[in-house]
Amino acid sequence: MFAAVWKAIGMPATKLRSFMGGIHPLKRKELTRERPIEPIPLPGKVVIPLFQPAGKEPRPIVSKGDIVTAGQVIAEPQDGRGVFVHSSVCGKVKKVGRFPFPAGFFVTAAEVEVGEGEKPFPPMERTPEGPEIIEIIRNAGIVGMGGAGFPTHFKLKGAREAGVEFLLVNGAECEPYLTADYRVLMERTEDLISGTKLLLKASGAKRAYVAVESDKKDAYDRLGGMVPDDDVIKPVLLRAKYPQGSEKQLIEAVLKREVPAGGLPADVGVLVQNVSTACAVHDAVAFGKPLIERVVTLSGTPLKRPGNYLVRIGTLIEDLMEAAGPDRDNIGKVIVGGPMMGFSMSRLDVPVARETTGVVLLSRVEAEVEPSHQSCVRCGKCLYVCPMFLPTSEICIAVERGDYALAVKLGLENCMECGSCAYVCPSRRPLVQWIKTAKLFAKKVKK
Ligand code: SF4
Ligand code: SF4
Repeated sequence: MFAAVWKAIGMPATKLRSFMGGIHPLKRKELTRERPIEPIPLPGKVVIPLFQPAGKEPRPIVSKGDIVTAGQVIAEPQDGRGVFVHSSVCGKVKKVGRFPFPAGFFVTAAEVEVGEGEKPFPPMERTPEGPEIIEIIRNAGIVGMGGAGFPTHFKLKGAREAGVEFLLVNGAECEPYLTADYRVLMERTEDLISGTKLLLKASGAKRAYVAVESDKKDAYDRLGGMVPDDDVIKPVLLRAKYPQGSEKQLIEAVLKREVPAGGLPADVGVLVQNVSTACAVHDAVAFGKPLIERVVTLSGTPLKRPGNYLVRIGTLIEDLMEAAGPDRDNIGKVIVGGPMMGFSMSRLDVPVARETTGVVLLSRVEAEVEPSHQSCVRCGKCLYVCPMFLPTSEICIAVERGDYALAVKLGLENCMECGSCAYVCPSRRPLVQWIKTAKLFAKKVKK
């Protein structure tokens, strides 16, 4: 049922412009698509967030004045879901305290003044098996790098216990502007295959599919030419459309399996991991390298050098922007995470987190100040576009009233935060933003 209806309303990227009224993802991706991954110079300081969206926040084990090296553990997990957090640079801890986070709230973080003494991570001679790989992943602080930031070891453990059949490696990257995963697919193909094999071992899944959208056909071809002939890892080409990158949609598109409402991919025998996460797993096992840096797309017309940059975790957005030559007089909006699912920034002293996929700058004209939002006019457009078939307008009215219990009852937690509803709303109601914030409140209420 879900499959049939979704196919009927699925939006090919080529038609998205008329549907979405402006953003054409294929065109916008052209800004950075051909820009190879490039490391940015080390900033003067980093602010490394300890926040993780599931489980207890890791406990800091460093304090002001401590000297740290790149890759050193600075926070330890406090429960089974938690991961270790590492310093992304060599330097001196200036402060451990509360700092602003891209999602709009404050989290505990460690500010480190960048010093010298970087050393490469040497190759490691080891061939770990399932549970050992999961432990390495946890120790390396690896979380879902596609945007969710969920602890990878915990997902793997659940998948192993559930006896999943398939691993789905998510290279769809359907969000407009973003091309970091595309560059990873093109430039780190061998590492991606190695990471995929490790994820297969760790999860116990027998076969992996690497899902790539048709606007990245060259990446699909490249992968197809490099995977072994044994049919264990198979690239899959999907129609380019938005949204498609959520776990549930991807599973439906590749495996024709429907994850029940409130259920998990493991319930239908599947584990989903992002392409960058797979590469991080390779780095952790092959080099003992924790997750201290990632590829971030920095894009938008106010930038002279938009591109895909290799960035240390904790680099502030204001420092990252410098790498791309911003026209500061022409910045209308800065969005962390992509225009559909990301957060619009009111300040730039927020750090790149492990799950930060991109930073998009809109010019003053592109971001033309919109009139403030109005009441819901019951047009039903948000209901029509919602891929999860949620009563979005009702959920948001409940959220506006602060009735999170009702919002949860109406399906708040099934929202995949694709942003389609907010995009089409004629009353310019910030629907997805309300939902994202309400999810965090709902979690606190549950605790
Ligand atoms: S409620 Fe909005 S953001 Fe959530 S899945 Fe539906 S359309 Fe996407
Ligand atoms: S699209 Fe906006 S105005 Fe229309 S029903 Fe949904 S919330 Fe209300």
